Amino acid sequence: MSRLDAFIRRMQAQRACIDAAAANLGGLTGPILELGLGNGRTYDHLRVCFPDRPIYVFDRHVAAHPDCIPPTQFLRLGDFRATLPGYLEEGQPSAAFVHADIGSGDERASLRLAADLAPILVKILASRGYLACDQPLVEASLEKLTISGVLDGGRYHFYLRRD
Ligand code: SAM
Repeated sequence: MSRLDAFIRRMQAQRACIDAAAANLGGLTGPILELGLGNGRTYDHLRVCFPDRPIYVFDRHVAAHPDCIPPTQFLRLGDFRATLPGYLEEGQPSAAFVHADIGSGDERASLRLAADLAPILVKILASRGYLACDQPLVEASLEKLTISGVLDGGRYHFYLRRD
């Protein structure tokens, strides 16, 4: 598979997870969390899919397209390892959906970051909430979900918090 094919499949899997969360949240209340603003592509899609929910956005810095810069009150800048505990300390409500696109070119560092964040993500996520991540996450309360034909390549990971 060419790198272009792999990139397109990753984007398709990413979009499919966000769309599946939007279709399945039902009456579960709570905000959306976006980890990894990047250039704002997925943030923009989240805004379309969840027009009535607050979307809190986490990144080290803002380097997004000018049309995709979140309002300041929903922006949490700094290392995820500090800003996610900070979100909990603010007393913010549990998230109905967390989308975490946190990987870099360094595969080992990305896996380590995901392992560091998994326990705090589970604390932030509401019971029966959904979590999509570009890295695999291992937590007892996370049930791995499939989306037929889309997540088979392991490019994206979709979970439901069971309890
Ligand atoms: N979802 C974005 C989009 O659609 O444009 C792309 C996100 S990009 C793959 C990953 C982002 O995560 C980068 O913007 C990077 O700055 C951020 N990031 C990576 N590690 C981080 C960390 N430890 N703390 C805060 N931000 C981090």
